[in-house]
Amino acid sequence: MSSTPARRAEIVVDLAAIRHNVRRLRDLVSAATTPATMTVVKADAYGHGMVEVARAARAAGSDWLGVATLDEALALRASGDVGPLFAWLAVPGEEYQPVLAAGVEVAGYTVSQLDGIIAAGAEIGVQPRVHLKIDTGLSRGGAHLRDWAALCTHAAALERTGAVAITGVWSHFAASDEPEHPANDAQLGVFKEALEIAEAAGLTPQWRHICNSAGALLRPDAHFDMVRFGLASYGIDPAPGRRTDLGLIPAMTVRAKLAMVKEIDAGAGVSYGHTWIAPRATRVGLVPAGYGEGIPRAAGNRAEVWAAGARRPIRGVVCMDQFVIELGDGEADPGDEVELFGTGADGRVTAQDWADACGTISYEIVTRIGGRFTRVHVDSEDAQ
Ligand SMILES: *Cc1c(COP(=O)(O)O)cnc(C)c1O
Repeated sequence: MSSTPARRAEIVVDLAAIRHNVRRLRDLVSAATTPATMTVVKADAYGHGMVEVARAARAAGSDWLGVATLDEALALRASGDVGPLFAWLAVPGEEYQPVLAAGVEVAGYTVSQLDGIIAAGAEIGVQPRVHLKIDTGLSRGGAHLRDWAALCTHAAALERTGAVAITGVWSHFAASDEPEHPANDAQLGVFKEALEIAEAAGLTPQWRHICNSAGALLRPDAHFDMVRFGLASYGIDPAPGRRTDLGLIPAMTVRAKLAMVKEIDAGAGVSYGHTWIAPRATRVGLVPAGYGEGIPRAAGNRAEVWAAGARRPIRGVVCMDQFVIELGDGEADPGDEVELFGTGADGRVTAQDWADACGTISYEIVTRIGGRFTRVHVDSEDAQ
């Protein structure tokens, strides 16, 4: 990767890392059961590039791809993707015809939504393939248990006419990164009850799924027929510290060239509001990326970057286009590379470090990075 000269500021995504992670995750879950795997590529693949990541995931044997919105599903199809694809978030009035025509499987939360999906399918002569969602306790999307039997009965009656195929029943955990949290067992209990109700109504869903990355890695008893890997596919631990055997590789490296290096005097205030005052004369470097690129403003005085062979602190607040790091005794020239975060090799900084420093989660760090960064995809296996 270092053979590519750094642009002003760029996001480098290693597709070999994505393929490695997809394979590794399959191996990790297959130790217990052998669920199908879905790679979740919503939100531009958590900032990594949806189309490129989708191709890499398919190449590495991901059985399914998952996205949130119908638009995302259509964009994937437009890119040439043809495999099993699930989209779970739509609003009333959105047209289902295009996704149904494209063979996308969709989520059904309510009777009226299911009727809308079926009507759209009938209009174009396509039998919709629907995964009914039970809200097992996240209180987000999906049918409440009290409405579940009616939804299943309605769906089963329509399935018998051939108007729809109920291919899945699914749900989502609220605290899967905390395996001892009581919500997990409670949700699993509701899920099993919902599956029994569905079966009693005459439904025979092929795909029963409830696990995201953390659930899949920490709750093998909840694997069922499929697990949905988002964050872990990008090489980031979804439940830091819970397992030490993951062997994932962060796929995203964010780097920039130092725009300027200079000495400042003891007592000099740095960046807006002078929230950091140099306690002694020191050297600082100017990094040409800011909250316009999705660098959290909260990283000011908290996060570190890798420059001149060591971790260097951000001094003062992050501005729209730039921020300042303290190089101290570190030897660096204008134009030298700064790595904001990446694989973490050799003590370098990770997205998780940024999340910890900023009081957020790694998901938000990688997903929001963008703006004026140039994003490039590389394949470290090709380079070898
Ligand atoms: C985002 C999402 C996932 C992936 O979650 P990770 O924690 O990133 O693995 C899985 N399922 C649903 C419904 C989601 O919204």
